Amino acid sequence: MNVMVERLEAIYAIAQHRAGYSAEEDAAHELAAGWMREAGLEVSVDRAGNLFGRRGDARVWAGSHLDSVPTAGRFDGALGVVAAIEAATRLPEAPLAVVAFRAEETGPMGSKEIAEAPDAYLELHIEQGPVLASLGEPLGVVTAIAGQARGLRVFEGRADHAGTTPMDAREDALLEAARFILHVRECARAGTVATVGSIDAEPNATNVVPARVTVSVDARSADGSLLDALIEEIGFEVQWRSDPVQMGDAFAAVLPDAPRLVSGAGHDAMFVPQSSLLFVRSLNGGVSHHPDELSSAEDIALAVDALTAALARLVS
Ligand SMILES: [Zn+2]
Repeated sequence: MNVMVERLEAIYAIAQHRAGYSAEEDAAHELAAGWMREAGLEVSVDRAGNLFGRRGDARVWAGSHLDSVPTAGRFDGALGVVAAIEAATRLPEAPLAVVAFRAEETGPMGSKEIAEAPDAYLELHIEQGPVLASLGEPLGVVTAIAGQARGLRVFEGRADHAGTTPMDAREDALLEAARFILHVRECARAGTVATVGSIDAEPNATNVVPARVTVSVDARSADGSLLDALIEEIGFEVQWRSDPVQMGDAFAAVLPDAPRLVSGAGHDAMFVPQSSLLFVRSLNGGVSHHPDELSSAEDIALAVDALTAALARLVS
């Protein structure tokens, strides 16, 4: 087993679920700190608990996160940290830094220290989707992280007896919600995605016509104007919104022929200026936040080669 696969196993062996700021995440940070020292990096921790391994006057950073969701696999986050430490080992003279961010899965704190320090931040991450596998490509350069809008739509009807109320005398809120869900699906076209993931029906009883239904909407696009148009067309009350974030070209420079992708999921890279993001093919249908999540050792090796080349280019 190569050292990176071994280290991913060691982190997973701590616990599948390593919540932000939990003892399990602490243990993962301790392991990573030891590997950073082995790579000749000077270890420190900032006020938010983010872990740094620095060498020299580092202006170029690489890393990811070590927290995980309850149903996590081995690669999400941990791969980016383990790969960055491996790249630092392969570049023993280079002034660079490795970072393990805290609590990415539940809303990262960001880091003032890193925001002021890096000329570039490079992150390697498993794709969390099936696109690279369907293209037959091991690596994909991320050009942008999609902006997101989340909110609700509420439908008001009237509770009635399911047996005695004629069909044409009903105000069925769930029926209206069902039409809306189909409408959301139709609104999401090229360059956008939209999802109704949650329904709350009241009174939620088998024999009562639904009186009130609240559905969630999650809409995303890497193009801010497409996202605005999508929100408008769907018609829902936006409760939270983030703008798309364009990624840097550190990986594009060393992988001119790799496919270009947009990330539909958020990443640490959105919170750090001058970020570049590289995706590694996700096998097993692209499952994510699942124990079957998988990248092959061969693909990981290619990704670390690219990360090392990109870092070498930036520090030279
Ligand atoms: Zn992640």
